[in-house]
Amino acid sequence: MIEIDGSQGEGGGQILRSSLALAAVTKQPIRLVNIRAGRRKPGLMRQHLTSLRAVGEVCDAAIQGDSIGSQAVTFEPGESRGGQFDFKVGTAGSAVLVAQTVLPALMLADHPSAVTFEGGTHNPAAPPLDFLRDSFLPQLAKMGVDSELAIDAYGFYPAGGGKFHLQIAPCCTLRGLTLTECDQKASPQVTAIVSAIPKSVGQRECDTIRRKTNWDPDCFAVKEVDDPRGPGNVVMIQWASPTVTETFTGFGKVGVKAEHIARGVLRQTRAHIARSVPVGEHLADQLMLPMGLAASQGRSSAFRCGPLSMHSKTHLDVLKIFLDIKVDVQQDDESDSVTVCFQP
Ligand code: ATP
Repeated sequence: MIEIDGSQGEGGGQILRSSLALAAVTKQPIRLVNIRAGRRKPGLMRQHLTSLRAVGEVCDAAIQGDSIGSQAVTFEPGESRGGQFDFKVGTAGSAVLVAQTVLPALMLADHPSAVTFEGGTHNPAAPPLDFLRDSFLPQLAKMGVDSELAIDAYGFYPAGGGKFHLQIAPCCTLRGLTLTECDQKASPQVTAIVSAIPKSVGQRECDTIRRKTNWDPDCFAVKEVDDPRGPGNVVMIQWASPTVTETFTGFGKVGVKAEHIARGVLRQTRAHIARSVPVGEHLADQLMLPMGLAASQGRSSAFRCGPLSMHSKTHLDVLKIFLDIKVDVQQDDESDSVTVCFQP
């Protein structure tokens, strides 16, 4: 049994989710200890517990230690199978992170899957659903995994209540993917979503970004959530090129001006554009697992991004525990960028 120390590097929930996903795909039993030791409230929270049970259901695993607050878990995977699943976080915890935990097993399963996820769809410190749909899944499609995502209800913290459906057509062997060149042609899309708060908040966010850019007025949209489950606001800038769509996010907070949130998202976007790399910080983190799996099946992949975050460095360490692959990280000091190559 492989022992994974959840306190290594970032010490957060991602070590748990990636280890579970990789254990399911490689059919290796694991014992996770010191789960989320680097966080203020360590151990399994609702979202992590849902991820654990969800991937356990997909691969018919024997699980020990699956309770809230647990800091040690044993997970012995069986055979992964596609099918119909329904996973509920039960709080506003990110259902998108639950989806990312089960995706690797489902994308390599022997049958297609139709999965409903309930919980948070737009959470700070997690990929918003738009990131999954527009930034991550299209890259997965290039690797051979077709999927379709449909949103039923938006879920913001603290009310939650979001719901989405994901259909996944698996493939046995992933194709390699190379994302090292930056397209010269890219265009922005700015979307402010408001749920049970005045539309004027989203309008102010868009106006702030419009005043500071020369972007076409047609690329701005304010979306009011129908039938809201609770209050929430997010403003997103999507920077779309023919090869990659990057998604940058800012969440409305009580006591923080909409203009301030909008300026923060624009700053993130400009920093990304100035760096002239195709892949941003979070997409880098998310691409590592499928690229690592492709390499373990004999297909090389690579991407170029800015300096690796602690999340990404920890993620690479976790991948190397499970997969017999070569990972090469090349630093380019002149452009302050990094190329990460995954090879069999
Ligand atoms: P905790 O850290 O409290 O355990 P967690 O379970 O959310 O919480 P993390 O280890 O912090 O775990 O992982 C969060 C994941 O969400 C990372 O993969 C990170 O790249 C991703 N992420 C965070 N913010 C964004 C964002 N704005 N867009 C896309 N992905 C994001």
